[in-house]
Amino acid sequence: MQFRTRAIHVGQEHDPATGAVVPPIHLASTFVQPDASMTSAYDYARTGSPTRHAFEKTLADLDGGVRALAFASGMAATHCATLLLAPGDEIVTGTDIYGGTWRLFNRVLAERGIAVKAVNTADTAAVARAVGPKTKLVWVESPGNPLLTITDLAACAEIAHAVGALLACDATLTTPALSRPLELSADIVMHSATKSIGGHSDLLGGALVVRDTDLGTRLHWLQNATGAVMGPLEAFLCSRGLKTLELRVLAQSATAQRLAEWLVAHPTVTTVHYPGLASHPGHALAMRQMSAGGTIVSFEVNGGVDDARRVVESTKLFQLAVSLGAVESLIEIPAVMSHGSYAPEARRAVGIADGLIRLSVGLEAFEDLRDDLASALPRA
Ligand SMILES: *Cc1c(COP(=O)(O)O)cnc(C)c1O
Repeated sequence: MQFRTRAIHVGQEHDPATGAVVPPIHLASTFVQPDASMTSAYDYARTGSPTRHAFEKTLADLDGGVRALAFASGMAATHCATLLLAPGDEIVTGTDIYGGTWRLFNRVLAERGIAVKAVNTADTAAVARAVGPKTKLVWVESPGNPLLTITDLAACAEIAHAVGALLACDATLTTPALSRPLELSADIVMHSATKSIGGHSDLLGGALVVRDTDLGTRLHWLQNATGAVMGPLEAFLCSRGLKTLELRVLAQSATAQRLAEWLVAHPTVTTVHYPGLASHPGHALAMRQMSAGGTIVSFEVNGGVDDARRVVESTKLFQLAVSLGAVESLIEIPAVMSHGSYAPEARRAVGIADGLIRLSVGLEAFEDLRDDLASALPRA
């Protein structure tokens, strides 16, 4: 079956008790056991619950995995994956990554004995040079955030596996609708379900998806032991989000592509980062790994930080807020907002200009979004 059919039907069978077409939301925290020796499908909702399980089943199928685990947030999912490591182990990661992941790796894990080495993962040779016998996890994000750099996932998987490490990919920006890293030999896919999967800026959630049953069992053990699971209401909303995921992400990507092309031609826009542009250094690779350029565009304008601030404070449809991937368009300045948790030197070193502007393109009409930007951008 095709992606969008599976998004609607896998794991979302009608309720046998009532015939309800939409599976009910099970709020129960505990489940009656048939006898004291306990062998039923559910016992306690931290370990597993029917509504969470339905979402996990659909997502695993869409990502080409054998198991998905749903968490309270994207960061909870990422944190759980890093619990596979022990002090003395090393993570090799990208420089163009989500600000909160940078903070978890460099401020939480590094202070607890896990070495963190950051390289530009769009440079495959740099990744190969960075890994060593202590590397247990290679963590990449493609497209990167906020510079939309493209990392060769299949090449990174080979490099990671050659030293016995796992490759994990934060696929929040692509979702399984645009790219499926497990099919390119990644071991773990991570999603912030808060973004495109939920899709309506009304929930927090995260997920890990794997293609190896044993790895899934280890991660589930860690998830159950640490407890940051997704609640049933969020799981229900995520299942609903998945049903329209492909439609939304493809439509939003098409608008993002047109806006990126329009920005390139604008007289006061200096640099545009968007993998769907032929001028993007990772364009050819992006078109092999992704079925569209994605919903995020970043760019710089003539002038300095103050001019960038005026832009983000003047748009009406593009609302000034962090987060991304939802139906409403958002605008922000990564240096002071989404990536404010980077150390300033680290942020400049990786090329995030203080005046860089990031757009999350929603489902509004292209013409309205274009006119909104046109009235906010500096005059030539
Ligand atoms: C938002 C985001 C996260 C973190 O997810 P939360 O749900 O906010 O915890 C991780 N990676 C990327 C790329 C994100 O956009």
